[in-house]
Parts: sequence; C-alpha cells; structure tokens
Amino acid sequence: MSSTSIINKRLENFLLTRDKTKDLNCITQDLSDSAKNIANSFSDAQRSSPLFGKLFSVKDNINIKGYSTTCASDILKNHKSIYSATVISRIEKSGGIIVAKTNLDEFGMGSSNEYSIYGACKNPINNEYVPGGSSGGSATSVASNLVDISLGSDTGGSVRQPASFCGIYGLKPTYGRISRYGLTAFASSFDQIGILSKELKDLTTTFECIAGYDKFDNTTSKKSVEKFNYSSSDTKKYVVGIPAEYMSDSIHLDVKNKMNKIIKFLKQNNFKIKNISLPLTKKCIGTYYILTTAEASSNLSRYDGVLYGNRVDSDEIVEMYKKTRTKNFGDEVKRRIILGTFILSSGYYDSYYNQALKVRRLIRNDFTNAFKEVDVLLTPTSPSPAFKIGEKNKNPVNMYLSDIFTVPMSLAGVPAMNVPIGASSEDLPIGLQLAANHFNENKIFSLARFIKDNF
Ligand code: GLN
Repeated sequence: MSSTSIINKRLENFLLTRDKTKDLNCITQDLSDSAKNIANSFSDAQRSSPLFGKLFSVKDNINIKGYSTTCASDILKNHKSIYSATVISRIEKSGGIIVAKTNLDEFGMGSSNEYSIYGACKNPINNEYVPGGSSGGSATSVASNLVDISLGSDTGGSVRQPASFCGIYGLKPTYGRISRYGLTAFASSFDQIGILSKELKDLTTTFECIAGYDKFDNTTSKKSVEKFNYSSSDTKKYVVGIPAEYMSDSIHLDVKNKMNKIIKFLKQNNFKIKNISLPLTKKCIGTYYILTTAEASSNLSRYDGVLYGNRVDSDEIVEMYKKTRTKNFGDEVKRRIILGTFILSSGYYDSYYNQALKVRRLIRNDFTNAFKEVDVLLTPTSPSPAFKIGEKNKNPVNMYLSDIFTVPMSLAGVPAMNVPIGASSEDLPIGLQLAANHFNENKIFSLARFIKDNF
C-alpha cells in the first residue's frame, strides 16, 4: 500500500470509530480534516520517520496553532492558540498525525474527568465508570481505539491514573525531560507532558521523538535521550523495590492480589525483590495540595478578562475581574485558587508554603535513598480500580486521596509509568506503577517490556 493510501485508510477508520464512540465524550475538537491535508503533504523524510502514520490525540491544554486550547474551561472557550507546543511540532516532524483534542478536568485539576465544561468523559470499558483524570479524554481515546497514542499532562498523576483506569500504558517522564512549551501551566514545578498508548512500543518511540532539550523551555535538561535497547538478561539483574507504605490494608483487594502475583512472578524469574520504606508517603498529599494550589493561584491569575479569558463586562474594573472569574471558572478551580491564595498570603506563607517546600525536599531524599538500593520501584498506580461517575465528585478530599500513589513521584520529579496488568473481579482494568531514578526512563521501559513478554 502506498504511504498516501495508508494515511487515508487510517483517517477513514478514525471517522468510523469516532461516530461509534461519540457517547464516551472524549473528543473536544476534531482535527481530522486538516490532519488529512497535513499528512498528505508529508515529505519523504516524514514518511520514513518512526511515527509515520500513527494517529495521535492531544489533551486540550496543549497548544496547536489555529485551534482552541480550552482547558475544558469557560474562561478559555474562545481562546485560539497562536503557536504550537514543541511536542506538536516534534510529532509532526516524526510523521505522526494529530486528529483530535481531548476532554480533561478543567485546567488539569481532578482525577475523574467530571469537572469539565463538556461534561463527564466515560470509561470505555464500562460506561458507568469514570476514565480517571485529568487526562480522561486522552486515555479513553486510546482505549477505545480512536487513536494509537495520546499526549496528556501529569502534575500529580493525571496520565498514570487514567491509564490505569482504562487499561493502557501511561508515562510521566522525569521533570525536565519533555518540553512544557505550549502546555497551559497548572503547577509549573510539577507539570510534565506524558504519553498514553496501548502498545508499549508506540510509547517508547514517541518518547524518543519528543523528549530532550528545548530552547523555549529552560527547565528542560540538556542530557541526551538514549535510545531504548531492550535486553532481557540485563533487565533480570534489576533490584525491584516494594515500598511498605504502598501495600497497606486500605487498598482494594484485587489490586493487592495483583501486586502479590507480580511480586511472585518476578521472584520466580530470579529478580531480586527488596522491601523498602518511603517513610514520608503519608505527608505527600498534604504537601502536594499546598504547593500545587499555591502555584495554580499564581499561574491562573492571568485569566482576568484583560490579559486572557472571556470577559464579563462591568462599569467598574474590580467588579469586572470579580464577575469574569466568578462566572467563568468551575468550582474545583475556584477552590484551588482560594486555597492557594491563602497559602501564599503574608502571615501564612512561612507556615504553609515554605514548610511544604522543606517537606518536598525530604520526600525527594526518600526517593534518592531508595534508588541507592533498588533500580525500579513497583507499586499500585491507584488504590482501587475505576470508581463510578458521581461517586467522588461531591467530596474533594476523597477525590484527592485517589492520587495517593502517584503524587509522591511528582513531588520527587522522578519518572513513573502505569503498566496494565489485567482486570478486577468486576472486569475493570488494574494498573501497576513502575518508577525509577531521574532520567532512568529506560529502566522502566525494560521492566515493563519484561512483564509484557512474560507475565
Ligand atoms: N488529580 C490530581 C489533581 O487534581 C492530579 C492532576 C494532574 O496530574 N494534573 O491535582
């Protein structure tokens, strides 16, 4: 088949699947028309690139020139991007075809994809359940075969947790590994663009194409991105750490059983398993919500109806700000802006913000110490499989607790990935998380590959 007919065939398939999966509500914008034009004028270099012909969706908080970046918020509903994120140009350069933008929790704040102006996105495995969040639309678009690969963003688990709820791979890279240029900021010292896919190979190839230094994002590292070369005998030499704090009695029985099963499997394959401790695990959720709401209150101050955002007019300027922000932000976003503003206000700054920064350093030290003894950490990605739509959205703290196992790696800035590992007794996907030291994504990929081939 010629490369042009490959492109056309895949786009046709996309349209058919799009119509069949409409009810899942995972797409916010369909880009397939312009994708067809772009892909049909690909150069020979693009046609022989590693991502050639792969279909991509992109979370609607990442800029694509000429399209809206709504962040699932009324405040940005009419906002058109005037430039593309670095990840977008790198995907196109590598022959990838971007066909859709996907649903999310407003500004990436949430764990269920229910806090969205487009309404809840649904889990493709069972439509009564949430797909996870905030990159719920990305996970759903992959799990329902609309696209091969999706880009999401992960501040505290937003790629890994939905990947786990939908039964696919989901990587949050090392902080600084993938450019954030063109990603709408939520909490800048945590935010990372991540990759979701059904096939491990698609994820590792995408990683190789988009990771690495970018002059437009000065938090990206200049470290080179090493090619992923798998060797099962080298992988078997890894020491795998099991942190005691992630195996508590409060996790869902089916998740715990899967953990035990995989530990047994690794032992049978002569991996060295080491029981370790990450003592500050219980401080992670509190520390995360202090730091991320503080950063969010500052990052979201630009949406005031003047610099950015849909304005609600008023004769008086302070009234105009108030009305604009009251009408156009959702409840969860407002909750976080108010909390973050309080945390940063004089008199409280030292006791909350500065204190949380110090705890973050100690949490990072926990991980540094652990990685002196082990190559990879193995944990559940989420304490339970997907929950029902409406089950947690009335109780914010309950919702926050669903990130208990993903937030620590975000505080430490280390890479972590969800690996799909089967299903619960109710046929809902279960995922395990692999984490490694900074810039050791390849160790995660290697162990994931070993599990995929042999488990
Ligand atoms: N669910 C977490 C939160 O609400 C993580 C979100 C994210 O990673 N963007 O903050």
